Amino acid sequence: MRGFVYAAHASRVIFGAGALQRLSDEIARLGAHSALVLSTPEQRTSAEQVAALLGPAAAGVFDRAVMHVPIETAREAREVARSLGADCAVAIGGGSTVGLGKAIALDSGLPIIAIPTTYAGSEVTPIYGITQDGLKTTGRDAKVLPRTVLYDPELTLGLPATMSITSGINAIAHAAEGLYAVDGNPIMDLMAQEGIAALARSLPAIKANPSDIEARSHALYGAWLCGTVLGNVGMALHHKLCHTLGGSFNLPHAETHTVVLPHTLAYNSGAAPGAMSRIARAMGGSNASQAIFDLAGHNGAPVALRDIGMKQGDLAKAADIAMQNQYPNPRPLDRDAILRLLQDAYDGRRPEP
Ligand code: NAD
Repeated sequence: MRGFVYAAHASRVIFGAGALQRLSDEIARLGAHSALVLSTPEQRTSAEQVAALLGPAAAGVFDRAVMHVPIETAREAREVARSLGADCAVAIGGGSTVGLGKAIALDSGLPIIAIPTTYAGSEVTPIYGITQDGLKTTGRDAKVLPRTVLYDPELTLGLPATMSITSGINAIAHAAEGLYAVDGNPIMDLMAQEGIAALARSLPAIKANPSDIEARSHALYGAWLCGTVLGNVGMALHHKLCHTLGGSFNLPHAETHTVVLPHTLAYNSGAAPGAMSRIARAMGGSNASQAIFDLAGHNGAPVALRDIGMKQGDLAKAADIAMQNQYPNPRPLDRDAILRLLQDAYDGRRPEP
């Protein structure tokens, strides 16, 4: 057995339908009295409902969270939090809103309570990202880890079915790469397998009936486990490619993960056979990359980069960027092989076994 280092992150998780009702108690538990509620413009109504639930403990609502946390938005939100005298922030939404909360915490140390409504997993990682002059800088800082996470599956019922599939596969990607991480450990392996299995079972059920609260609960449970893996061990080629495609070509986050994952797993399959059989088993299939491809394709999610805004002419540039500042990866990076991987993802080809 190979040696490992395991360090748990201190975050408190409250899970279950109706968990939102515990918010006031959780704010008081942090010794806070005045919460700035954060959301995207699209989820303003949810943020207002949260503020109404808090009554006098709500300092206000800031509803301008957007993807990739532009520095201007972060500064504006920090200023609003300061001027309203907020002593904590409540982020209700997906990775973009939680990301804004982290940007506030990075600067001010304000405690964040996250109420995730997608499966992205940011709420359980100490990883932040801020975009300045078109360049996204990411880092790790214990300060930005939300102190409390309320997982309430009722709040995910409105996540459209196709977004649920892509967001769920985004979560699976964290666990899949966690299983072949250079700094992996047995606890994360257990979480990764259980997280993948929970999502693989629940996503088709959500597609069939987006109001299935049992399926929603299992998907959110899987998202928590997969997010925890992301927060604890290093990611590899798949996350590097998705950051490249998102950052340099402005492709949508969860969809990009969904399309690329089968192909990065195929790329790594010979170099990480143990991880691949664990992923396949958790997926209930015999081949990891094909099982992920089919989960997307059979449930109405995109399977081709050409369908989510990528241009054929940019594939070579993407391969070049992927070769820079390499993340550790089970199979050494080979530019021609990565270009072939990207071409397969562009065309939406089902990986060969
Ligand atoms: P998102 O937060 O951008 O949400 C996408 C859209 O869906 C938004 O308009 C949002 O308001 C809406 N939405 C969210 N939940 C909804 C619901 N239940 N019902 C209806 N609409 C809903 O998307 P995301 O994929 O969750 O997050 C992506 C961002 O998070 C990226 O910037 C990514 O880099 C970041 N991220 C960071 C980490 C980390 O650890 N730092 C981890 C994962 C993702």
